[in-house]
Amino acid sequence: MTVVFWNRKIQQASVEDLREIQLKLLKWQVRRVYEKSVFYHKKFKEAGIKPSQISSLEDIAKLPYTSREELEANFHDVLAVPTSDIATIRMTSGTTGHPLRIAHTKRDIEMIAEASARKLTYHGVTKNDLVQVTAAYGLWQGAWSVHWGAEKIGACIIPTGPGDTERQILMIKQLGTTVLYGVTNYHFRILEVAKALGEDLRNYSLRIGICVAEKPSKEHIRMLKEGFGYEKVVIDYGATEFPGFSVQCEEERDFHHIWADFYLIEVIDPETHEPLEEGERGELVITSLQREAFPLIRYLSRDITEYAGFEKCSCGMSHPKVGVNIDREDFMAKIRGVTVFPGHVEAILSQYSELTGRCQIIADKRTPRQEVTLKVETSRTLSKEEQKSIREKIIEEARNRVGVTFNEVIFVPNGTFGGKFRKTIVIA
Ligand SMILES: [Zn+2]
Repeated sequence: MTVVFWNRKIQQASVEDLREIQLKLLKWQVRRVYEKSVFYHKKFKEAGIKPSQISSLEDIAKLPYTSREELEANFHDVLAVPTSDIATIRMTSGTTGHPLRIAHTKRDIEMIAEASARKLTYHGVTKNDLVQVTAAYGLWQGAWSVHWGAEKIGACIIPTGPGDTERQILMIKQLGTTVLYGVTNYHFRILEVAKALGEDLRNYSLRIGICVAEKPSKEHIRMLKEGFGYEKVVIDYGATEFPGFSVQCEEERDFHHIWADFYLIEVIDPETHEPLEEGERGELVITSLQREAFPLIRYLSRDITEYAGFEKCSCGMSHPKVGVNIDREDFMAKIRGVTVFPGHVEAILSQYSELTGRCQIIADKRTPRQEVTLKVETSRTLSKEEQKSIREKIIEEARNRVGVTFNEVIFVPNGTFGGKFRKTIVIA
């Protein structure tokens, strides 16, 4: 398969050239934040670090990490531009009681648009496409990133935002939408409503589905292709803190390429913060190399995946790769001393066509043994025998593969979890 590059020079740059670009930008960014950001200046001073001490990419290890809590508490001090240069602000729910705010200059927006244009073009989107953006506009970044990129490549944008699913379907029919961008769950919602209306979405012009926010399983992708008639379904990975971050590899679909001229990646042990080797699974630490308003320096992303590093890929790009199986630390829970990611439980459930794959894990820490109940959604009514057999298999597999023993598995009807993929509730 031949992929198309929006920016050949940077997308086809060699590993050596990318590393050289990264070092130049890292030195520039470190000097800038030391001079312009009150927050980073203070942090570097406390760590006894001066920008002149950064002379190789490895020297980044001398810089202190930045936590999400610090960014939440220090919005104004993190800024490395005067407030008059801020063009827009984004916000996402915080972990400390403050929301996390992120600011962008006009040039920052231009860089997000560039990253998004590269991504869309690489996935085969052209100026002839009609891109329906069903993700939420507003303070959330995802919809804006794809919007800016689609605008840059000259595609036609249909900015529906979420909701009014019948109207979304009408747009797909009447306007001839070819690319549908949305939260993974919302793709399924559209399918459900289309089915209820007696509409077969395969009869229209849709060809590419872009899933954001929750990673669809292989089975989900198969269902989406079948239901919408998509030629391909791609996974969009990024976050409000690091927009314009990556693109899913067209050749090795288990990986995302990270744009090396925009972000520098390290991988560390999430508990000890010791650096890990390429190929190991750990927490991604992210440094933004070109961002003006709200730079990230060694940001602890809480996203856990494997880092495959720099290598020329069969798709033609040498930008470093990370695995698509990303666990968000925010979603994990410690149950009887075992770290449990709902995604791992969902992976077990996805093998059963009798189940939707959605579940809820309830750990009752008030009981001495911290009893754990798993509620799973069924896709149809199950007989007592079927329930017994599936229950036993799930309990055994979860014990072997996740390390947690469920005391009870309860079957609940489809739709119980309101379409949400990840729901872990830990009762303290
Ligand atoms: Zn690739």
